[in-house]
Amino acid sequence: MTPGRVGAIGVVGGGIAGSALARALSLRGVACTVLERSSGPSAEGLKINLPGNAVRALAALGVADETMDRGIRVRRREYRNGAGRLLFAVDEERFWGSGQPSVCLRRGILLEVLRRDVALADVRWAAPVDEVTTSTSGASVRVPPAGPERFDLVVGADGVRSRVRAAIAAAAGGPAAPAQGSLMTETSWRFVVANPGVDCWTVWSGSRGTLLLIPVDDAHVYGYASATRGGPAGSGRDWLRTTFAAFPAPVVEATVAALAPGAELYHSPVDEVRGRRWNAGRLVLIGDAAHAVAPVWAQGAALALEDAVVLAALVAAGGDWSRLGSDLERARRPRVEHVQRMTDRMSRIARVPPLLRDLTAPSVGPRAYASAYAPLREPADPSPGRPAHPS
Ligand SMILES: Cc1cc2nc3c(=O)[nH]c(=O)nc-3n(C[C@H](O)[C@H](O)[C@H](O)COP(=O)(O)OP(=O)(O)OC[C@H]3O[C@@H](n4cnc5c(N)ncnc54)[C@H](O)[C@@H]3O)c2cc1C
Repeated sequence: MTPGRVGAIGVVGGGIAGSALARALSLRGVACTVLERSSGPSAEGLKINLPGNAVRALAALGVADETMDRGIRVRRREYRNGAGRLLFAVDEERFWGSGQPSVCLRRGILLEVLRRDVALADVRWAAPVDEVTTSTSGASVRVPPAGPERFDLVVGADGVRSRVRAAIAAAAGGPAAPAQGSLMTETSWRFVVANPGVDCWTVWSGSRGTLLLIPVDDAHVYGYASATRGGPAGSGRDWLRTTFAAFPAPVVEATVAALAPGAELYHSPVDEVRGRRWNAGRLVLIGDAAHAVAPVWAQGAALALEDAVVLAALVAAGGDWSRLGSDLERARRPRVEHVQRMTDRMSRIARVPPLLRDLTAPSVGPRAYASAYAPLREPADPSPGRPAHPS
C-alpha cells in the first residue's frame, strides 16, 4: 500500500466502475465516499463475459483468483453461420495465456467480490445524486434532501445516463454526449437456460439475428440475442422465436427454453456513449458514463475496471487535483477509442450479406479478433516511460 494524497473523493455510482475504483483507492491507502442510488446490493443481472484484460485488472484489484474460482473459464470461441457451419474458431486460452484467461460469471458475484473488505470506502446506499457542480477549487454533489457536499474530486461512475457527464458538458459550455443505440443492434435479449449441448462460447449469425451461447456452469448457458444488421432486436417475444426458428437445434432449444414461463429473460437497450469530454474542473468520468460500448468484444466492464485501476494509480502518484481528469483522459483515450473502432469494424463485418460474409469470415474473422484483442493484452496502467496503449 502506498500513501495517497490527502483530500476528499466522491464517487457517484457504485456499479462495476465505482466499486472497482473504491477498491483500487483503498488498496493504495486513499479513502472515498461512494454515493449509490439503489437501496442496497442485489444479486441482479445475468452473466458477464470478462476477457483477459478484465481479469488482469481484477488481479490489480486483488480479486482475480476468486473471480476465476467463482466463474467459468472461456477456453474456445466458435463463430458459426445461421445454418450452423463453422466459419472460424479461436483458442482463447492460448491467445490470452494462463495468467489472464477469459471468464464468464454472474454480474452480482463480480460486484460482491469487488465490494468486499474495502476498508477505506464510505458507501452510502439510497443516495441518488441530483445536482453536480464544479469550480477551480472543488466539486459539489447534492443528495436530496441534504444540501451540497463538497469534494476535492468527484468521479462520475454513474453509467450511461450520467448526471456527472451532463455537469461536465455544462461546465465546458457544450452539449452532453447522448446515449445512442449501437451500430450492430439497438436492443438485445439475454437469458440463462439449461445447456442444450454447447461445449464452448459459440455464436451463430444469420441475416436478421445473431445469438451467442456461453456455458456458465455444468448445467446452464448464458444467451445473448441481437439484431445482426442494425436496428432493434424486436421487443416482442415473437422476434426471438421466429428469428432463430430455422437455426441449428441448440439455438432453437435455447430460445424455446428462454420463452418458457418463469425463465430468466430480459430485453434491454444496447446504448453507447462516445463522449468528447470526460473531464472538466474537478469532475471526471469513468466506465459507461464516459464510454459505454456495445458488447461486441465484451469490453464494457473490462474498460471500467481498467479505468478504476489507472485513476487510483494517478491519485496515489500525487500532484495537482485539477490535472487528474486530463491525465486520466490522456492515459485512457487511445485504448478506449481502439475498442470503439474495433466494435464498429465488427458491426460492419456483420452487416455484409450472408453469402459474402460466409466466404470471407474464415480469413477476416481471426484477423479481426487478433486486431481487437492483441493491444489489450498489454497492461493498461501508464507506468512512467511506458505508453498506456501500444498504438
Ligand atoms: C446487454 C448487455 C450485455 C453486456 N455484456 C457485457 C459483457 O459480457 N462483458 C462486459 O464487459 N460488459 C458487458 N456489458 C457492458 C457492461 O455491463 C457495462 O460496461 C458495465 O456495467 C459498466 O459499469 P459502470 O459501473 O460504468 O456502469 P453501471 O453498471 O451502469 O453502474 C452505474 C451505477 O451508478 C448508479 N447511478 C446512476 N445514476 C446515479 C445517481 N444520479 N446517483 C447515484 N447513483 C447513480 C446506478 O444505480 C449504477 O449502480 C453489457 C451491456 C449490455 C447492455
